[in-house]
Amino acid sequence: MKMMYDITMSVSAQTAPFPGDTPFSLEWVWTMEMGGSCNVSRIVMSPHVGTHGDSPYHYGSEGGKTEEVPLDVYVGEALVLDVPRDIGPLITREFVEAQLKNTAGTPARVLFKTDSYPDPAVFNTDFTAIAPEAVHFLAGLGVRLIGIDTPSVDPADSKTLDAHGVFLTRGVYILENLRLQDVPAGRYELIALPMKIEGSCAAPVRAILRSL
Ligand SMILES: [Zn+2]
Repeated sequence: MKMMYDITMSVSAQTAPFPGDTPFSLEWVWTMEMGGSCNVSRIVMSPHVGTHGDSPYHYGSEGGKTEEVPLDVYVGEALVLDVPRDIGPLITREFVEAQLKNTAGTPARVLFKTDSYPDPAVFNTDFTAIAPEAVHFLAGLGVRLIGIDTPSVDPADSKTLDAHGVFLTRGVYILENLRLQDVPAGRYELIALPMKIEGSCAAPVRAILRSL
């Protein structure tokens, strides 16, 4: 039987947004308790809260919006790589190169398990991000999607978003806020399709990994 991992962050009013960004909230428009014929809620959130796919438009005015992202990027074989907690602020090109040296062919999707953003209710700023050169290297191998278990592929205090810039120029897509703590490193099938929200800079995904 195929093993399935839910690698999606649970979203609630307790989920910490990026500082200054819109948190998640849910309120009731109609309730059966109040005599309505059904329960209907209304949600307000930044699409960057919880597990999501960034649209290229998020980091480049010429980039595609959510409804334009290619879906095949978000479905297919993925490699989960363990990143040691003491690697420092960035996943370097050297680290990625060494990890992939003995790998027979890198799949088009690579997910970094850093365990550096453990509590979704607390926005810690010292999470591990990705060096722009590492993105260049993976793009050169044919990687089209990179995911990470932190709120950003760039450091929390970055204003220049250098890694995001390389994703844009190399045409590699981004998944953020994955939950990988229960997933052993290795190869899986990833399914993480972004919600089709027109004009958006990002969209929530329900992300799962299945054993091959
Ligand atoms: Zn984002």
